Order: sequence, then structure tokens, then C-alpha cells
Amino acid sequence: KTKNASEPEFLQACEEVLESLRPVIEKNEALYKKEALLERLVEPDRQFKFRVPWVDDKGQVQVNTGYRVQFNNAIGPYKGGLRLHPSVNIGIIKFLGFEQIFKNSLTGLPIGGGKGGSDFDPKGKSDREVMAFCQSFMTELCKYIGADVDVPAGDIGTGAREIGYMFGQYKRIRGMYEGVLTGKGLTYGGSLARTEATGYGLLYITQELMKDHGESMEGKTVVVSGAGNVAIYAIQKAQQMGAKVVTCSDSTGWIYDPEGIDVDLLKEVKEVKRARLTEYAAARPSAQYHEGRGVWSIKCDIALPCATQNELHLDDAKQLVANGVKAVCEGANMPTTLDATKYLQENGVWFICGKAANAGGVATSALEMTQNSERLSWTFEEVDAKLQQIMVNIYHNINDAAKRYGMEGNYVAGANIAGFEKVANAMLAQGVC
Ligand code: NDP
Repeated sequence: KTKNASEPEFLQACEEVLESLRPVIEKNEALYKKEALLERLVEPDRQFKFRVPWVDDKGQVQVNTGYRVQFNNAIGPYKGGLRLHPSVNIGIIKFLGFEQIFKNSLTGLPIGGGKGGSDFDPKGKSDREVMAFCQSFMTELCKYIGADVDVPAGDIGTGAREIGYMFGQYKRIRGMYEGVLTGKGLTYGGSLARTEATGYGLLYITQELMKDHGESMEGKTVVVSGAGNVAIYAIQKAQQMGAKVVTCSDSTGWIYDPEGIDVDLLKEVKEVKRARLTEYAAARPSAQYHEGRGVWSIKCDIALPCATQNELHLDDAKQLVANGVKAVCEGANMPTTLDATKYLQENGVWFICGKAANAGGVATSALEMTQNSERLSWTFEEVDAKLQQIMVNIYHNINDAAKRYGMEGNYVAGANIAGFEKVANAMLAQGVC
């Protein structure tokens, strides 16, 4: 804690994981201690911090900071997204990289954990400025990554446009056409269903959870936060499953639409125009727009936080419970604070944490890597069917892991245990490294 005192999000992620691993650790205490397994687990293999200079449209040089944390490659090449947002710092990247180790392990696919990004804000920048930043960022990052080494992907602020510019620069510098990034465009190695994967995967696992409790998605009221990649496709799939999604939000405000969110309109506003939610409200008579935050005050059966970390607080959890929520499944990474998670679990809410619930994105990225290695492209239906199977397997793995340690229904502990066991075994088998 002293060593990482300036990294609160990283400490929060470590605390959550290590606390829920307590029974596994106690069972193997002597071995883990001798091997310093936990000490090795919380220390990244390596981390890079670098200058990213670029020229804006006025001819002014701007300087951002770039990061890549290669956390753990015990079970496969490092894999994890690149976040472009002004809030990015080393603590945020480390928390995301640490979580990624267990998430990637849960997918059942051979991928290790890593994460990266920059404090660059793509909002309000021209395409040329975004390209200038991405090229400069990749000029440095390309020294550390590769198809069998470290394969970054998108995250907040990094969509198809940014991945395209970065891929172009990698190819130009390294002279290699390889699957070094995922989330690529369909004309140059991208996978069908990758765009939809995190949101769809979130709904596949939520559906399995409901089924296991004798319920279905049909007719349920769902509250979603966010209006980005994860939120949009979560809303779409929930509606296809017969649920009604009544909210979405962005960093300035939120929408309550009792008729159900119009996904086509939301996509037009967010994906095409890159505009604010006020434009959604202006075009949709049934929608109410509110400034600030507030989606968790709406009565619902299922809540899906899909925006960012620490966006669902204790007060929100209390409100959700008072309104009779049955399930909370995290589309974003660590959106629920520790005290809110505890409150939800203690009050009988079925809670699935992000590292299990949003693993569909990285799982489909791994499927993109497989297609790139095979030099083949699978159909949407093939990828979607594999994604669905992966999410169903994750649900049962985390449920079984929790049961094995006498914590039935604690899906957070189940996810951490199931993710950890595979990585720990691989680390022990590979000796002190
Ligand atoms: P996007 O950038 O596409 O969307 C993020 C959304 O959240 C936007 O609507 C944004 O609003 C909103 N948002 C961001 N910060 C805040 C804030 N502080 N308060 C309220 N709203 C905010 O990102 P993604 O949808 O890709 O990612 C969302 C979450 O899901 C992140 O935690 C990410 O790490 C996680 N995730 C994403 C995966 C993926 O495949 N995309 C995979 C696994 C996890 P605005 O438009 O105003 O910026």
C-alpha cells in the first residue's frame, strides 16, 4: 500500500481481488509464500511511460503522456485495450491491467494481461489531429508490441478510427502486416461482431444468470449507464431479448425514455454525429434529458453500468435495492465502488463484476487474433455463437468456483478465484520469472 499510495484505483482493484481470494490463499499459504506468488502477481512484468508530441491544426506542438503496462503473460501474449481520456494516469492503467489478467484467464483463451493509453482527449479534435496523435503514439509503442508479444485493442476513446491510424503507423514502421492490434476495420483483418461483442456478451451472461434463477429477460425493465460502444450494444441485445431499456447517459447528462431507448437514434447521435445526448432528447418526444448523473434512481429489474469506473456509489446501490433491483452486471470496468458492491451482495442482489461480465470484448479480440493467424474471416453468426458459448461457460465457471469455496452466489469471489487459479498454476509451472 505504501509503495502504490498514489494509485488509489490500483489499490482498490488489488484489495477487491486479494480479499476474495482469501480462502484459496489460506489453502495454499505455504506454497504461495515460498514462491512469493502474490508479490509477483501485483507487480507488472514491465511498464512503459513515454512522450507523445504532435502538432495541432493551428501548428502548435502538443505533448501528451503515453503508457503501456505489460502485467502478466503467464498464459499468453499481453492483451488489453488502449484508453484515451484526460483522466488517464499510471494508477488507472495499472488497475485496468491487473483486472485484465483475470478477465482474460476467464475467457478460457490463451491471453495474458496488459493495458495502455494516454491522457490525450480525442473529443473535439479534427481527424487530422487524431491521426497525428495516433501516429506519434504508435511510433513509440511499436517498439514494445507484436502479434506474439503484446496485442493492444480499443477502450474508452479508442474506436475503429484510432485503431486504424495506429495500425497504419505500425505497418509503416515495422514493415510487417500482422495482427498486432484488435478492433481493426473489416477490410484489414477485423472480426465481425467485435464491435457488438462486449455489450452482447454482457447480455448473454446476464441472461444465463437470470435463467439459473428461474427468470428470463422477457418483459424486464433495464437501466443502462453510458452511451458508448458497450452501452449501445448492451441496449440493442437487451431489447432483442424482450427487455425494455429506459436509460442511457454520457459524461454530461442522462436520458430517461419510458418508451424504451431508440437504439438507431442513439447510434446516429453517438457513433455518427459524435454529439451530446441533448440531441437524442431533441429528436425523441418521449425522452427526458437531465444534467448530471441519476440513472440509478430509476426503478428497474436489472442495472447495467456501462460507462466508467466508480460510477455506481453506495447511495445508488441503496436506491436500486429500495426499488427492487434483482441483478447488477457490470459492462464497464470497476463501475461499482467496493462499498456499493458489498451492499448489493448483502441485500440479495445477483451481482456479476466486470471482469466476468464484460469479458466478451476481449474474448472476441482473441477470436480476431485466431482469424488473423489463420488468415481467414469467420461469419458474424460463427463469431457470435462462439461469444455466446464463452459467456455461458464463464457464468458456470464462476458459479462453480464460488460453490467450491462455500460462497455460493458470490460471483465476484467466483470470478477472481476461477481467473486466478489458471494464472497461478501457470506461474508456478514456469518457475521464478
Ligand atoms: P466509450 O468511450 O465508447 O463510451 C464510454 C461512455 O461512458 C460514453 O458515453 C462516455 O460519455 C461515458 N463516460 C465516460 N466517462 C464518464 C464519466 N466520468 N461519467 C459519466 N459517463 C462517462 O467506451 P466503451 O463503451 O468502450 O467503454 C466503457 C467501459 O467499458 C469502460 O470502463 C471500458 O474500460 C469498459 N470496457 C470496454 C470494452 C470494449 O470492448 N469497448 C471491453 C471491456 C470493458 P461521453 O460520450 O460524454 O464521453
